Amino acid sequence: MQILIVEDEVSLSKAIKRLLEQKGYFVDAVYDGLSAVDYAKGMEYDLIILDLMLPKLDGFEVVRLLRKDNVGTPILMLTARTTTRDKVTGLNTGADDYMTKPFDTEELLARVAALTRRTGEVIVNTLDYADLSLNVNSAVLSCGEKNVQLSHKEFEVLKIFLYNPTMTVMTDTLIVRVWGVESDATDNNVEVYISFIRKKLRFLGSRVSIRKIQKIGYRLEEAETC
Ligand code: CA
Repeated sequence: MQILIVEDEVSLSKAIKRLLEQKGYFVDAVYDGLSAVDYAKGMEYDLIILDLMLPKLDGFEVVRLLRKDNVGTPILMLTARTTTRDKVTGLNTGADDYMTKPFDTEELLARVAALTRRTGEVIVNTLDYADLSLNVNSAVLSCGEKNVQLSHKEFEVLKIFLYNPTMTVMTDTLIVRVWGVESDATDNNVEVYISFIRKKLRFLGSRVSIRKIQKIGYRLEEAETC
């Protein structure tokens, strides 16, 4: 289950991220409204926790843009404002729930659980696709009887593919999510790690391969079974 946190107060963002990670959620954090729209369109999140007052685009604008683009991910709005009018506006623009800061961590967890249950999923320890199974606690990738240990970066890269198995993942997205916005990693770094993963897929004898889409990124492909 993956969650996007959009909150420009870094210490609060980190606290929420840590809390959710302890509960087994995968969490991405961004700090402004424009990045929120980019991330939410580029990945299949199960929930977006969205602050209202944000740099670049405010939370209402983010919700409006996402819903206009048919991104239906549940949204939990966070805000320091408490007036009824704002709550109504938030829900009218397409947010699913609303919480005012400061909030109790138990209440946040309860609302997150309620909103993510709506998508009909439960927290899992493995990510499965075709004949592959990735244990998210140990970073061991399995195919049939064979297992292989992934390095930290291989794990982070493959996890993004397994979460978005039908999507072409943009190279820039991989750089930002695995190496970080501030890093000077390039397409070549990504290519190197993709080649490491491909080698492990071949070792496992998996039907799954990673195909390069020129100038865009990569996607998973599953060979036909005979
Ligand atoms: Ca804020």
